[in-house]
Amino acid sequence: MNKKKKIFDIIIYCLMFLLVFGFLIYAGRFNAFGKFIAAIEYKTFDIRQNIILPHKESDKDIVIIAVDDPSYEYIAENFGTWPVPRSFWAKLIKGLEVANPKLIAFDLLFTKRLGALDEGDKALIEAVADNQNVYLSMNFDNYPSKIRKAPELPDNLETKLNNPNIIKNSPYLSFTNCRKVMDELLAVTSNIGFINVTRDDDGIIRYMSPMFHYKDAYYANLTTLIAAKYLGLDPHNMTINQKNELVLGKNYKIPLNPDGRAIINWYGKEGTFEHVSLWEVDDAINTGNVQFLKEKFENKVIYIGTTVTALADIKSTPVSYMYPGVETHATFLNNILDNNFIKHSSFQVDILISALLCFLIGFCILKFDSVPYSIFCSLLIFAAYLLVTIFVMDYFDLWVGIVLPLLSSTLILIAAYITKYLLKSKDYEHTYKLAVTDGLTEMYNHRYFQEQMIMNVQNVARYGGSFSLILIDIDFFKKFNDKHGHQSGDAVLRQVAQTIKRNIRTSDLPCRYGGEEMSIILTNTKKEDAITTAKKVWSAVRERKFELADGNWANVTISVGVASMPDNGSNPQELIEFADKCLYKAKQNGRDQVVSDIEEP
Ligand code: GH3
Ligand code: MG
Ligand code: MG
Repeated sequence: MNKKKKIFDIIIYCLMFLLVFGFLIYAGRFNAFGKFIAAIEYKTFDIRQNIILPHKESDKDIVIIAVDDPSYEYIAENFGTWPVPRSFWAKLIKGLEVANPKLIAFDLLFTKRLGALDEGDKALIEAVADNQNVYLSMNFDNYPSKIRKAPELPDNLETKLNNPNIIKNSPYLSFTNCRKVMDELLAVTSNIGFINVTRDDDGIIRYMSPMFHYKDAYYANLTTLIAAKYLGLDPHNMTINQKNELVLGKNYKIPLNPDGRAIINWYGKEGTFEHVSLWEVDDAINTGNVQFLKEKFENKVIYIGTTVTALADIKSTPVSYMYPGVETHATFLNNILDNNFIKHSSFQVDILISALLCFLIGFCILKFDSVPYSIFCSLLIFAAYLLVTIFVMDYFDLWVGIVLPLLSSTLILIAAYITKYLLKSKDYEHTYKLAVTDGLTEMYNHRYFQEQMIMNVQNVARYGGSFSLILIDIDFFKKFNDKHGHQSGDAVLRQVAQTIKRNIRTSDLPCRYGGEEMSIILTNTKKEDAITTAKKVWSAVRERKFELADGNWANVTISVGVASMPDNGSNPQELIEFADKCLYKAKQNGRDQVVSDIEEP
């Protein structure tokens, strides 16, 4: 019985399990729900990134020349214009040469100017042509051709990409238009990369795209170019392998999501990489402070970009809401050189983890009867899982889902409690029934009879009306037992009980009063009606045969006494006494009859 019940419970829990998962998978098909889950998942990613931040160390070979607020002020003071004349940048490139930097990358756009080239433009073109370590930026967009005719880009900017499909098919990485640098610059260098970034729905940048698709050709991100150059590879010939990694040599690979983007592993708040103010560099160049320049830039990768909020190239990232674009690129480069991009666990793994958590939590609830204890255990499982996810991101650079596993196991937790409560209340009903019924006859027991007598008396006393009591005693039952055996006596008792039940209304309560005596409480019943019922039961018993333990059949008769409130008493004792007297009188008068009055005739 107990084992059967356990199996039943387990089946119920399994059904509930399927229900929760079915619901999640069904709901996941709706875009809004999927986006909702993704939005929360992003936040858990951000929190994890911030927690593990102190464990990261940025590459000291990456330096930023920051167009910061003081530099902006300095430029305004010295040149009276923004942007600065391009001769300024030409002078910067030449000036930095004494420090022998590894390369200089501009996270600034030198686009074509209206009208003829001026002296500054010419100086910049010359400086870029002379220095193969200078890298420039361009930007793709989707402007309509009425605003700007989509330009053809020179072949030498293209990257021959093997297995390019995830870039080609990505909704984020294909563009129809482009904001070029000056054609004269395009003519002298192929060191030009693209600086597009994509923001998530919440406006935060978590991904970087190493490659872009434009007019059936592929173009490298500025930082992909720089990384290739740094690692001594050909940036114009690359491969995406079977594992969806952009291969940058044997030891350097950028793992790509199915949408062609890589997940950035953040190294710190803004200001992580060494910043040197643009004005300081210009000052050092002007004053011939070679020592300063060497100290800061010798053998370094230099990114030049703006960190001024007002100049627009400021992003929100998981680690800061004011993160300069130039530092995003520095972080991307650092991720490539450290080979530690974040990889996302697959959906199947997340489902597996969810199932495991649900199983553990279901087990806790099934195992422990104490509610606080099982809730405590479930919370402990949640907390342990959260710690594991942080650990896994820190040491294995793996982003395992939190929302789906926690959501499904929370649903399981709630569903399990509802199920448990329902099963419990079913158990309770069963226990209650056991407590108020008699095992042999399945009639109500004596205690229940007493309770109901009190209730009925109180009801009639308060609201008026009437109720009746019938007492039944089997005739010569001692003799019957002696003749046919106790087992047959029991069988007859059961069958008399059945006969009684069949001949009363559902609102009447059949009870075993004790031994072979039975009683019926008839709620809201007047004496005459009670007598009718009593006679019905009496004749039904005398007219039927009872099967004995040995298969034979026998007859029994009953004597019946009837009492009613208010006619025959006003409390349980008086009523029972009256019915008992009737019964006695019936016995006296020769048994096998119904008596409802004790007055002598
Ligand atoms: P009377 O007509 O005067 O009622 O005679 P009686 O023999 O029935 O007398 P009484 O009611 O005093 O006898 C009760 C007998 O009922 C005693 C016992 O043998 C029998 N009895 C009581 N409870 C049970 C029971 O649970 N099972 C069986 N088989 N017999 C019972
Ligand atoms: Mg008796
Ligand atoms: Mg008897």
